[in-house]
Amino acid sequence: MLKPSDRSRQCFLPPIPELDLAADWLSLAADAVLEGREEDAKRLIAKADMPILGEFAQRITGKVDPAIHWQSRMPTDVLAERIKQRMPSSSVEYGIYQRDGWRCRFCNIKVISPKARKLLVEMFPSVARWGRVNRDKHYALSALTATLDHILPHSRGGTNEEGNLVAACGMCQFGRGHWTLEEVGFTDPRERQPIVDSWDGLTRLLR
Ligand SMILES: [Zn+2]
Repeated sequence: MLKPSDRSRQCFLPPIPELDLAADWLSLAADAVLEGREEDAKRLIAKADMPILGEFAQRITGKVDPAIHWQSRMPTDVLAERIKQRMPSSSVEYGIYQRDGWRCRFCNIKVISPKARKLLVEMFPSVARWGRVNRDKHYALSALTATLDHILPHSRGGTNEEGNLVAACGMCQFGRGHWTLEEVGFTDPRERQPIVDSWDGLTRLLR
């Protein structure tokens, strides 16, 4: 079990290489869209829909597993009544993703803009699956969509101040849920510089 002083990891499990591969294929799909090559885009989106991504995500976001989460159950001291706060506007949200280089600040994988994902789902419903339950969602689009993560969870008193928010992938976000960084032994991602390079989270589709 986790010792309170033990903060030695960045995320639950090392990201598998297929996550990066899927991001690259989705990026090529975005290029194909911009160049009017719709069949190529479709083929690449279908290729990125790898079941192994769903299996990996499920290990982290599914049932609590002490070997992965270092905890045996979710915390019970969550705030019954949360402070009502204004959610960050979409421009603040976009600014945080930009600041963080469209990467998960925990596991560093490339993430994609929720708006770009929505666009791909609308354009290519036959391959960019987006059903109601997880198994009916495109594995890569689901795992890689950017989310705003509260460093101190909202349910534990965390605020919507920008300093408490970072970009995260779905696994790091939903895997941690109500736990604090200390409770899962994570180092504070704000102590590391974000990786900012040419990766744009597919936002070029939105211009
Ligand atoms: Zn992550």
